[in-house]
Amino acid sequence: MYSLRELFKIGNGPSSSHTMGPKEAALEFLRRNPDCDFIEVYLYGSLALTGKGHLTDYIIERTILPTRCQIIMDPIKDVPHPNTLDFIGYKNHEKIAEMRVYSIGGGAIKIEGDVERIKDEIYQLNKFSDISSYCKKNNINIPSYVDSIENEDFNNYMEQIYNVMMESIERGLNTPGILPGRLMVKRKANYLYNQPEIDNDNSEKLRRNIISYAYAVSEENASGGLIVTAPTCGAAGVLPAIVKYSVDLNKYTHKEIIDALKVAGLIGNLVKKNGSISGAEAGCQAEVGTACSMAAAYLCQLEGASFERISSAAEIALEHHLGLTCDPIEGYVQIPCIERNAVAALRALDAAKLSGYLNNADSKISFDLVVETMLDTGRDLNYEYRETSKGGLAKKYK
Ligand code: SF4
Repeated sequence: MYSLRELFKIGNGPSSSHTMGPKEAALEFLRRNPDCDFIEVYLYGSLALTGKGHLTDYIIERTILPTRCQIIMDPIKDVPHPNTLDFIGYKNHEKIAEMRVYSIGGGAIKIEGDVERIKDEIYQLNKFSDISSYCKKNNINIPSYVDSIENEDFNNYMEQIYNVMMESIERGLNTPGILPGRLMVKRKANYLYNQPEIDNDNSEKLRRNIISYAYAVSEENASGGLIVTAPTCGAAGVLPAIVKYSVDLNKYTHKEIIDALKVAGLIGNLVKKNGSISGAEAGCQAEVGTACSMAAAYLCQLEGASFERISSAAEIALEHHLGLTCDPIEGYVQIPCIERNAVAALRALDAAKLSGYLNNADSKISFDLVVETMLDTGRDLNYEYRETSKGGLAKKYK
């Protein structure tokens, strides 16, 4: 597995695979071909079907400027990956370069013909079961294991991740108005956060705050604000909502919170390696399901839970998202995405609690198994339900 830096990325929404990945691809094409005076960019598959709502064309044009560029959306062409782009560069009307890129989720890209970056896979253990056995044998916990693999500057990186998460909540809570796009969706984080107290019920308030935080980040994401992919832009609200909830509890040190974020990151990385974090590849179970799993593991780490309980919480959170489709209306990462982040944050809380109640009693399904199942399920999902905006709510909503 690659560094957790490749999972937790700071960038602008609304979509890691539809904006961050294509932006990186355009930058790479420009780096390799600085002499082009005109560039054609073909978007295929999900990028063509939902690229408008996800602002893919806008971000590519803006990145390529001042070089002239034309974007061609082709949803029909048969391509090897649902998020495929072709760049064709010209100089004086003559073709001088071409590059095929796959936006594989979480802002990461793969360039056709490039040698796989196997050497950059700094984590040699790729299963939770192997990592927990290694940690037990060496008497270390998961954050120490992560520290032993990442470089010495990693803690500073995680501080930035934490700060951007908290800032996106703050901005989202304080920004009323309407989200960009034709759906005219009202921002609700501020409204939800400022609801009057119900009978001084503190647990009710904590849950409502979690919902508000998830809305805050997701609304920031939907309006192109700065967020952290956790593991993607579309699912960026779940983990920060739970992190802020844990900060509000005032029970944990800052170091404990950063350590728990490392555990969440490792869980996300395992799904990225063995399953998928791309809605276009495996539906929303891969995005919001993974985010829920990461948040549940985060909570267990904070409570000082065993390896078994962390695994169990992550497994429960992902298992009950299996089969979840991706059907954003008109391709905007707004409906069902924003509300879904809030519900998943609450589910993370419940999954963490349930793992504690069960206390590993008769646990038959491991986290590693549910990750593999998620990928299989995603591949079996009808194409319409994998970020194409052709099925589900996107089809029914008028
Ligand atoms: S439905 Fe889920 S996977 Fe699809 S765009 Fe929304 S958050 Fe992403």
